[in-house]
Amino acid sequence: MTDIARRVADLRRLLADYSYRYYVLSQPAVTDAEYDLLYNELVAIEQDHPELVTPDSPTQRAGNDLSEDFAKVRHPAPILSLSNAFSAEDLQAWEERNLRLLPTGTQLSYVLEPKLDGLTVVITYENGVLVQAATRGSGEIGDVVTPNIRTIRTIPLRIPANPNGPEAPEKLVVRGEVLFLKKDFEAVNQKQIEAGLPAYVNARNTASGSLKQKDSRMTAARPLTAFIYQVVEVSGKTLENQWDNLRYLRELGFNTSPDAGYFPTLSDVIQQIPTWETRRNSLEFEIDGVVIKVADLKIARELGVVGKDPRGAIAYKFPAQEASTHLLDVVVTVGRTGKIVPNARLEPVFIGGVTVSNATLHNYDIVHTLDIRVGDRVVVKRAGDVIPNVIGALTAERNGSEKPIIPPERCPFCDTPIIRPEGAVDYYCPNTRCPERVFRQIEFFVSRAGLDIEGFGGQTVKTLIDKGLLHDEADVFSLTAEPLLELDKFAEKKVNNLLAAIEAAKARPLSQVITALGIEGVGSTIAVDLANHFGSMDALQAATPALLEEVDGIGGILAQSIFDWFQDAYHLSVLDKLRAAGVNMQNTAREVASDSLTGKTFVLTGTLPTLSRDDATTLIESHGGKVTGSVSKKTDYVVVGDSPGSKAEKAAQLGVAILSEQDLFALIGAASSE
Ligand code: NAD
Repeated sequence: MTDIARRVADLRRLLADYSYRYYVLSQPAVTDAEYDLLYNELVAIEQDHPELVTPDSPTQRAGNDLSEDFAKVRHPAPILSLSNAFSAEDLQAWEERNLRLLPTGTQLSYVLEPKLDGLTVVITYENGVLVQAATRGSGEIGDVVTPNIRTIRTIPLRIPANPNGPEAPEKLVVRGEVLFLKKDFEAVNQKQIEAGLPAYVNARNTASGSLKQKDSRMTAARPLTAFIYQVVEVSGKTLENQWDNLRYLRELGFNTSPDAGYFPTLSDVIQQIPTWETRRNSLEFEIDGVVIKVADLKIARELGVVGKDPRGAIAYKFPAQEASTHLLDVVVTVGRTGKIVPNARLEPVFIGGVTVSNATLHNYDIVHTLDIRVGDRVVVKRAGDVIPNVIGALTAERNGSEKPIIPPERCPFCDTPIIRPEGAVDYYCPNTRCPERVFRQIEFFVSRAGLDIEGFGGQTVKTLIDKGLLHDEADVFSLTAEPLLELDKFAEKKVNNLLAAIEAAKARPLSQVITALGIEGVGSTIAVDLANHFGSMDALQAATPALLEEVDGIGGILAQSIFDWFQDAYHLSVLDKLRAAGVNMQNTAREVASDSLTGKTFVLTGTLPTLSRDDATTLIESHGGKVTGSVSKKTDYVVVGDSPGSKAEKAAQLGVAILSEQDLFALIGAASSE
C-alpha cells in the first residue's frame, strides 16, 4: 500500500468511528471542527486520486443514525447532506462548477438560510394530517419516530395550521430541523443540575438523544423546537423556486426557517455572510453556518448530486467556536467582590482566529457537575466577545492520571479562610481588604464600566499600589503630579491628561458613582434605579433592606447584599474619603426621561434618518422601553429605516406595528404629554 492509500484507510477508519459515536451514540469523541478537518483532508486526497474513492467512503455516504429501537421507512427521495465551503472563494468555485454544467448564459439566483444546528426530520402529511415522521437515518431509510415528533409543539398535527392557509395537498412530505432554542437548552441543564445530574455539553447531541427515545413521554419532557425548510414531495403542485417553497410552507402554518433571504446574485449572498457571523451569537438558536441554495429548483434538480451532496446547495460553515485541548492546570482568581473563580490553563489551541490558552471554568459547582479534571482533554468554546469557557471533558480519553478540581480552603492572596454563603453557588474571600480584592476593585472603579477615567489601565493601578500611592479607590483622587512623573513612560502630557480625567470623574452622575463602588449585583441598570429612588448617596446608605426592596427589580437577596455593603467599616471609610474629595453624591436630574414606553418592546432595522442605532436604543430605553434583536409575537413595534433587513418582513407577517423614526418621536411625544 502506498503512503497515501494508507492515510486514506486511516482517515476512513477514524471518520467511521467518530460518526458512529456522533450519530448513533450521540456522544461525540471529537469536536465538529476536528471531524471536519479530517473529513476535508480525505476530500482533498480523493479529489487528487479519484481511483481511491470507494462506495463506502464517508464522502460518498451520509452519516447513518439508524438505531435498532425503531421501525424503518424508506424516504420518498434521498435525504441528502451538504458539501461545505469555508470562504468566498469556495463559494465562487462552487458557482463556476455549476455554471459549467448548465447552458451558457444561465443566471443563478439564491436563497440564503441559516444552517440550523440540529437534526433532520422528514414528516409526511396525508390529507392534512401528520401520519409519519422519521429521522434522516442513512439518507435512504429512516427511523420512524412519529409519536416523538407529535410531542413537538411547533410541528402542526394538521395542516393548514394557519386558518387562512391554502388547502392541504393529498400528500405532503417536508424536511426540517429539530433543535433546542438556546434558552430551552439552558433550562434543561438547569433542571439536570437541580436534580444533581450532569449538565449536557452539546445542544445538538442532546436534541438528537431526546428525539430518539423509545418512550415518547421522555421526548415530551424536552422542550424541542422544529423549523421546516424543504418540500420533499407534494401532490398536485409544482414548486419551482425555493423562495416559493418557504412561502408555501409558511402559509400552511409551518415554523419556517427564520430570516431566510432571496438574493439575485452570488456576490449579494457573499456580502451577507459577515452580518450572519456577528448575528450568530444573538440568535435564539445555534447555527453553524448558512446554507446557500440555487433558488430555481428545476436548475437545482438538473445539477444533480455528487456523492451524498446536492450540487444545487452548499453549507458555508463559520469558523469553529469550539476546539478540544488539554487542561494543564487550574489557577484561582479572586474578583473585586471576593468571588473565587477557577480558571483553566490550557495547552494553546486555535479557535475562531485566535490562540486560546486560558478559559474560565465559572465556578466549582459547574466543574463538579461537568466532572472536569486536571489532565482531561476538554472542549473549549469561544463565542463572540464572551470569555472562552470550558464546556465539558472528553471523558472517554481518560487514562486515570486526571485529578479532581477542588476549591481552595484559604484565599491564595491573603490566606483568609474561604466561605460559601448559604444558598450561594460561589465561594468567597470575605476579607474586604484582601490585596487582590482591593486591586480588582480599584481597577474596576477607574475602568469604563466604573467612573471611566481615561488613561487609567490595570497596569497603572498595579504600579501605583506597589509604589504605595493607592490603598483604596478613593486614593485615586489624592494623586498628584510629582510621584506620577517618576513612573515609567509617564511624561508631563500624559500625567496632566490623567489628572484632568480624574478631576472630571468627580462630577459623574450618582448612578455611575454607585456602579463604580462595585457592590455585588449592582450593575448600571440597578444603579440608575437606586439613584432615582433614593436621590442621594446618604439616603441610599441609610436604607434598610425593607426600603431597598421597594425599588423595582430588587429582591430580598440583592437588598441584603446592598445593605451589608454599607455596613462594612472599610467601605464606609472609602465613601467618606470620596465625599471629602468632592465626588458627586447627589442625583441632580432624573436620569430616565419618562416611562411612556414602559412594557413596550422594540426592534430596530435599517438605517434611520437622524438617529444612530445606539442613540435610538438610548432614546427608547430612557422612556422605559426595551430594544431586542429579533422580531417575535412579543414585539410591540418595529422601527424601520432605509434598507431594512428581513425583520421588517417578519413584522409584517406577524402583524407587528411598523414605525418610522418620525412615528417613534410622535409616540414618545404623545405618550409623555398624556
Ligand atoms: P452538515 O451538518 O454539514 O450539513 C447538512 C445538514 O444541515 C442537513 O442534513 C440538515 O440537517 C442541516 N441543515 C440545517 N439547516 C438547513 C437548511 N436551512 N437547509 C438544509 N439543510 C440544513 O452535514 P451532516 O451530514 O448532517 O453532518 C456532517 C457534520 O456532522 C460534519 O460536518 C461534522 O461537523 C458533524 N459530525 C461530527 C462528528 C463528531 O465526531 N464530532 C462526527 C460526524 C459528523
